[in-house]
Amino acid sequence: MSARINMTGQRCGRITVTGHAGKKRGCVTWFGVCDCGNNVEIVGTDLRNGKSTSCGCLRRELTSERERARLIGKQFDRGVVFESAGTVTYGLRKSSNALWFLRCDCGEVYTATTNHLRRHITKSCGCLQRESRLMSRMSHGQTRGRQPSSEYRAWINMMQRCYNPRNSDYSNYGGAGVTVDEPWHDPSKFLKDMGPKPEPKYLYSLSRPLDLNNYGPGRGITWGTQAHQLEQKRLKRELLAKKLPTKTLAATATRKRA
Ligand SMILES: [Zn+2]
Ligand SMILES: [Zn+2]
Repeated sequence: MSARINMTGQRCGRITVTGHAGKKRGCVTWFGVCDCGNNVEIVGTDLRNGKSTSCGCLRRELTSERERARLIGKQFDRGVVFESAGTVTYGLRKSSNALWFLRCDCGEVYTATTNHLRRHITKSCGCLQRESRLMSRMSHGQTRGRQPSSEYRAWINMMQRCYNPRNSDYSNYGGAGVTVDEPWHDPSKFLKDMGPKPEPKYLYSLSRPLDLNNYGPGRGITWGTQAHQLEQKRLKRELLAKKLPTKTLAATATRKRA
């Protein structure tokens, strides 16, 4: 006991020894304070041989640095990790988890924990749930047996080419800035506004007036045949060649239809 080395005031790594703590399982222990502010109680020999150099914060920081290097730039479902967002503590065991900033395919920024990313619990900024909610409406109403109606399929296809980057037509629609007005995100509103397709239904699809980009109520969207749409495209090319304002173009198209 008398041979005890007084370590008070000594520094070992991040720890400053503040006083003698006593004996634990035959080992002399010391009180200390870590640079991060945590109080610690450490076995003397661990201090002297450099086994304890912090309260544990050093290891946590090193681990999180490694995590950072591993995760930044990595894709998880719809998002790519671009920065650390600190840590969060949750659950009964108060486990702490690294939080990350991600940029979603749709352009939004969101945060998620490493745990939720790895277990595919957080897959997007929320746009994925919104889309699947939309798609799940497919099973409500407007279905004949299990087959969606022709009008309903038109709605699904419209939403797909405007909002699903994996849709083959996306580049000409959503990718080119074409959107669907909010009221038409509800298929029942869309179907009510559009009414049934003329027969034979398979010949008809959604037709937009030439100077309007977006789909929505009051935008002059009609059921048109492919021939009608080709005619509109031809008109547009002709008129653009003459450098007429597209307003005239829409008027012409409407007159032709009437
Ligand atoms: Zn510390
Ligand atoms: Zn998103």
